[in-house]
Amino acid sequence: MGNLERKKLVIGNWKMHLNASQASLLVHRLQERIESHRDVEVVLAPSHLVLQPLSLQIDRRKFKLAAQNCHWQDEGAFTGEVSATMLHDLVHYVIVGHSERRHIFGETDDMIAKKVASVVRNGITPVLCVGETAEERKAGETKQVLHDQLMVGLKDVTSDDVKGIVIAYEPVWAIGTGHYAKPGQVKEAVGTIRHNIRELYGHVEDDVRVLYGGSVEPDITRGYIEIDGVDGLLVGGASLNYEHFSAIVATVHKTETDEEK
Ligand code: PEP
Repeated sequence: MGNLERKKLVIGNWKMHLNASQASLLVHRLQERIESHRDVEVVLAPSHLVLQPLSLQIDRRKFKLAAQNCHWQDEGAFTGEVSATMLHDLVHYVIVGHSERRHIFGETDDMIAKKVASVVRNGITPVLCVGETAEERKAGETKQVLHDQLMVGLKDVTSDDVKGIVIAYEPVWAIGTGHYAKPGQVKEAVGTIRHNIRELYGHVEDDVRVLYGGSVEPDITRGYIEIDGVDGLLVGGASLNYEHFSAIVATVHKTETDEEK
């Protein structure tokens, strides 16, 4: 299956921003601007708190929802946590292993592997984030880091379950920094990710969508989406701005339409 046959995916990660009324207003504005496109799936990842009201507000032809995190157990004495079992009816995706979870909250590859497994077990699609730090890139360790994060992160995922899974390549040095990864760097990293998936599972790498994330803005969207092997974008800061996020979605759609001509 070629790149064109995998539906493009754009996820807006709102991080710890927007209360219920602000989130509702942003959805309202996005719904006015974003059309439903057959070739682009648009996913919003608000805080856990507003998933329920947004699930009633969103136009499901235009948007799906994602959670930004979950616990690896289905239930139990884990104060303050939310499980994939609880998210099951609300979201299509759960972001797992975001660099902020790894670096601020100390999530290890083993914890992330258990989270990926719990998301799959609960019938939700994980968006597994991987990516190297600036130091690791400088030391020439990018390939090894991606390899290790994937091998451990996916260790409990069977070859049947890996089909349809989403991997987000997010170099830590490009997240929220305005430092743009060069298309050549993204292409190489995405190639490494697909190679590792092939090593692990055989040929199912064609059924796995790989996103790029890191300071994506409307004017640089096309450059990333045109990279061979990139199936979409994970957008942080720009997803909080309705004009920027709708422009990013429109650019992804236009790029797809242009390629079909
Ligand atoms: C992110 O949070 O996953 C992200 C890529 O953020 P930003 O677009 O702000 O760099």
